[in-house]
Amino acid sequence: MDKQQEFVLRTLEERDIRFVRLWFTDVLGFLKSVAVAPAELEQAFDEGMGFDGSAIEGFARVYESDMIAKPDPGTFQILPWRAEAPGTARMFCDILMPDGSPSYADPRYVLKRALAKASDLGFTFYTHPEIEFYLLKDKPVDGTRPVPADSSGYFDHTPQNVGMDFRRQAITMLESMGISVEFSHHEGAPGQQEIDLRYADALSTADNIMTFRLVMKQVALEQGVQATFMPKPFSEYPGSGMHTHLSLFEGDRNAFYESGAEYQLSKVGRSFIAGLLTHAGEISAVTNQWVNSYKRIWGGANRTAGEGGESPSYICWGHNNRSALVRVPMYKPGKTGSTRIEMRSLDSGANPYLAYAVLLAAGLKGIEEGYELPAGADDDVWALSDAERRAMGIEPLPQNLGEAIHLMERSELVAQTLGEHVFDFFLRNKKQEWEEYRSEVTAFELRKSLPVL
Ligand code: GLU
Ligand code: MG
Ligand code: MG
Repeated sequence: MDKQQEFVLRTLEERDIRFVRLWFTDVLGFLKSVAVAPAELEQAFDEGMGFDGSAIEGFARVYESDMIAKPDPGTFQILPWRAEAPGTARMFCDILMPDGSPSYADPRYVLKRALAKASDLGFTFYTHPEIEFYLLKDKPVDGTRPVPADSSGYFDHTPQNVGMDFRRQAITMLESMGISVEFSHHEGAPGQQEIDLRYADALSTADNIMTFRLVMKQVALEQGVQATFMPKPFSEYPGSGMHTHLSLFEGDRNAFYESGAEYQLSKVGRSFIAGLLTHAGEISAVTNQWVNSYKRIWGGANRTAGEGGESPSYICWGHNNRSALVRVPMYKPGKTGSTRIEMRSLDSGANPYLAYAVLLAAGLKGIEEGYELPAGADDDVWALSDAERRAMGIEPLPQNLGEAIHLMERSELVAQTLGEHVFDFFLRNKKQEWEEYRSEVTAFELRKSLPVL
């Protein structure tokens, strides 16, 4: 048994922990959990825990359903909302096939494979997400409009603001689970919050995002409200993005940094951005996987920059341009080695493992093929006409899930990165969602057409 495993077993005893939850994530990005008794854990470390994979979204076909969850002791944490003895702890798992090989359906493995490819090229991949979400008074399931939990706006700091207490408790909980928070504030719309996590390697970030979503929902319940990561719950307010800052390191050197270069951005950084732009359309179904995701990207509230709209609709990059898909922020221009790029399309409903895998793959492709970065866009690209954008070579992101699926289906890059099984399952699942949506007569049509036709 290794040191980490010993540490886990010792802590279980010392802290009187009676339940250990083994966590993993399905292909759509939902957290799954199976609890084991501490006595079983030694065996779980050795052999993993068997479970029926056919019941998990995207995992297995019924005829090959036996799967194994093997806990990663490095992810052991006590759940702070179950901290009193007897307590509960959790570990993330890797999913294995009965022969001990990694499961091709496990999103964590998809990301690990992408990271291994980066590592072959000499890079480690760091990410830092800005996670936006809404706090709501309720979560109606019959299609009626939810009610935001407060009526504050961007950076507001008022005593009757539910969000403030919420954020304090939520951040304390995250920190106690080893997840560092860099920044938090009220976002632009009523009930909307943002919490930014400190940068970490992409696998830890993805694990942290899964934990984050659960913690937010837990703290919300304790405060009598509901948290949602739905990309666009309101027509008239901005959506919830998960802008992510990305950087590649070679050893301890930031490979995106070059002293004296424009925006201190190295050639590697420029090609990485070019990769993101070139493949933005085909990876969109993964970074923005829901029918609703495209309401965030194309919804009207986008264009009210300054009120926290500011989600990208067009494929271009810029420096201080919040309408761009990729931005090179320069908060601290004098600081060496801090160059990073902000990818702004991702939304809070994405599966973080798969999304980070395709972003990394797109960027690496740019580096490997030496893609040239087109000129940056300094203008507010929403304010340009279609003809002006066309003249500048700026294409739109997919307008809806159907278009995104169409592009993904033809993408060798996404097929290779997700692997055949996840690629096929994902497409099948998303086509079904699109079909269901497309065949529904909506309130909009009834409002628009019924009175006049
Ligand atoms: N809520 C915006 C989005 O959906 C982002 C606002 C911001 O720039 O932080 O992407
Ligand atoms: Mg924000
Ligand atoms: Mg941002």
